[in-house]
Amino acid sequence: MKPIEELKKEHLKDIKMIVLDVDGVLVPRGTKIKQVGHITTLETKVIAQKQIEQIRTLNKKGFIVNINSGRGLYMLQEMFREVLSLVSLTYENGSATWYRGRIYQHVNSFKYLKDIFPKLKRVKSENLKGFEPKEFIITIHCKKRVKEIENIVKKEKNLYAIWNDEAYDIGVKKNQTKAVGLKQLMKIFKLKKKNIMAIGDNYNDYQLLREVGIAITADQGRVRGHFYIPLKGALLSADKLTRQILSVLR
Ligand SMILES: [Mg+2]
Repeated sequence: MKPIEELKKEHLKDIKMIVLDVDGVLVPRGTKIKQVGHITTLETKVIAQKQIEQIRTLNKKGFIVNINSGRGLYMLQEMFREVLSLVSLTYENGSATWYRGRIYQHVNSFKYLKDIFPKLKRVKSENLKGFEPKEFIITIHCKKRVKEIENIVKKEKNLYAIWNDEAYDIGVKKNQTKAVGLKQLMKIFKLKKKNIMAIGDNYNDYQLLREVGIAITADQGRVRGHFYIPLKGALLSADKLTRQILSVLR
């Protein structure tokens, strides 16, 4: 892996689409959620104006921008409201993509998740914070690992549970990954692997970063890429990436 400063103009020659993860890339990590009975309190993260401008700039430079996140569509639409006409939103770990008001569903997880959902709902733990509203995957926020959740998922051979230090993402193995969503999107946009650059920072970016021409990790401790941007620093990794791209294109 090379530091992002070594990304050169020649690396960009085939790149047509830039795939951006959200948490840890465009906003700092961390979701605030609280669930008491039937009342869920969930904070909508605000994307800084600087990041919105970066998306506009990349778009002006001719790149197609795809946002690829584990979050739900309602949340991504709210976060990217100002640039909705410039981006496509691939959500819930590749389950579907919203593009200009149309939804392309990539995965149908219903039959795999319908029976496990009530079981997970019955888990009682002081470390469980709440279920994030999602349509195709199950996301459970916890203060720390909850063995009971892991044991329930372990019994289902088709399902994964990815723990990322703040939540479990539970979904269908090999099916509900950001890479599966990207591959479907590449068909829609008629693009090849070499045309894609992606940046991500977490375990749910693992497959995504293996399926693109140029992969950038924003957390070397969790995922690998061709280039890396250190997790710690005053700037978000989206800042550093955009800066580097603009500096070599100038
Ligand atoms: Mg992330």
